[in-house]
Amino acid sequence: MATVEQKTVDTSRNGGGDGRTFAVENPATGETISHLPDMDADQVRELVARARVAQKDWAARSFDDRAAVMYRMRKWMIDNRDRVARTVMEENGKTREDALLADVFITADALGFWAKKAAHYLADERVRSHSMFTLGRKLVVRYRPRGVVGVIGPWNYPIANCFGDAIPALMAGNAVVMKPSEVTPLSSLLVEEGLREAGLPGGVLLVATGTGETGAALVDEADMIMFTGSTRTGKKIMARAAETLTPVSLELGGKDPMIVLRDADVERAANTAVYWGMANGGQICQSIERVYVEEPVYDEFVSKVIEKTRALRQGRPEGAGSVEVGAVTFAPQVEIIERHIRDAVEKGARVELGGKPADGPGRFFQPTVLTGVDHSMEIMTEETFGPTLPIMKVRDEDEAVHYANDTRYGLNSSVFTRDVEKGERIARELSAGNACVNDALVNYGATELPFGGTHESGIGVRHGAQGIQKYCEVQSVLVTRFAPKSDIYMYPYTPTKSRIVERLSVLLYGRVPRRFRGRG
Ligand code: NAD
Repeated sequence: MATVEQKTVDTSRNGGGDGRTFAVENPATGETISHLPDMDADQVRELVARARVAQKDWAARSFDDRAAVMYRMRKWMIDNRDRVARTVMEENGKTREDALLADVFITADALGFWAKKAAHYLADERVRSHSMFTLGRKLVVRYRPRGVVGVIGPWNYPIANCFGDAIPALMAGNAVVMKPSEVTPLSSLLVEEGLREAGLPGGVLLVATGTGETGAALVDEADMIMFTGSTRTGKKIMARAAETLTPVSLELGGKDPMIVLRDADVERAANTAVYWGMANGGQICQSIERVYVEEPVYDEFVSKVIEKTRALRQGRPEGAGSVEVGAVTFAPQVEIIERHIRDAVEKGARVELGGKPADGPGRFFQPTVLTGVDHSMEIMTEETFGPTLPIMKVRDEDEAVHYANDTRYGLNSSVFTRDVEKGERIARELSAGNACVNDALVNYGATELPFGGTHESGIGVRHGAQGIQKYCEVQSVLVTRFAPKSDIYMYPYTPTKSRIVERLSVLLYGRVPRRFRGRG
């Protein structure tokens, strides 16, 4: 495989200059593939100041003019898909298919989606007043860009979960400073190059390379922070943003459950569990991280999952169709996966398949299936973020729902049953921001649907109307065209005016509407 081209990228245009650098590694080979500037607070401040200047002109452009840049960028992504996928593969260690599906195609789709929908979601909203004091006024809710949005991203989807969030921010008229993960910064630099070729004006999107401190500095400077990453860092960001009352939107970790009921299509359920448990090496915030199976189909489900997992090929990702499961991107993750498996085995779990790091060179963990698990084990309660599938037998639907909801997270969830009404009823009982029936994770591709976590999986959503409105300040505008010289509540206070206002309030608010009488 060719080496990544960003090795030679001139990052000085981004504000990086002399000073500290950090190394970027290919986790599938262990080779160092680049060194980039570890930007300090002054450099971040300078980047945000440049973005702030560029934002004014960008915000003054029409939605169509901004959309034209996004469509050109979409074309660029597809024309350059090989180069983009290779860059993601080299710094992340994922397969070509995982890189193409999420980082290239999902991002290309998002570019078109927001280009098309932004004007609709952010159009002025005319509302009618219910209040006697504002009757007849023109009332408008409008969305105006916040200014400079800081987008801080993780390493598991270097483009989709970093630039992917910048797209609606840009379409809303903001400038963006992206702080990609220090583990996978090269694809963001490539995206920035693509955006320049697509005609994005200089300074509207800048990349701050660096470690956690660079991200913390961005929290201090930006007008809003869109963060995707671990729950631990999300809490730190929220605390820091509180100092400046900077709004945050947080997409955090998960421990997503899958429920398989006795009337499920077990073949489809097993295929889904293996795919969405192992895809991207199990390093998806909404990976299937734990499975609850009703007793009558438990044995069948487990044997199908083992058989399908055994067939997976793992190794250094090369061309199309070379392997199914790639590397463990981030070195400390191996210890977490091993710890969870060790803890489970010590408490009585059985490793049906895998269970160990795989042979190098590079950093791999064998696709692993565990049975005999319960909620005393970390593997059922803490985010593992690796190619692991722990499967637990449950008595009935109620027990499945009970365990699915026994978590501090709440990102995605799924239930498999041929009875779709029952499936939807159970989905609504699951304590998660998202729920699928006879499917998993594909809801993410339905960009019209808000996607976000509850509890410790996050605050706010990406996608849907709220996924772009959050990048705006809401301004309420009231316009009075015809009015008397003085309104009744104004000075001077007189007994007559007071009596009228009092009577009006009794008339309006002094009774319970008929259809609510005697209810509740
Ligand atoms: P992480 O929290 O370690 O790092 C994420 C980003 O935050 C990196 O760019 C990092 O440099 C930066 N950062 C670290 N400390 C910071 C600080 N104090 N202030 C500001 N920025 C700081 O997460 P990770 O290990 O890169 O990513 C994996 C995690 O991301 C998993 O928990 C996964 O579930 C989660 N994730 C969530 C979603 C979602 O949509 N909910 C999507 C992808 C990943």
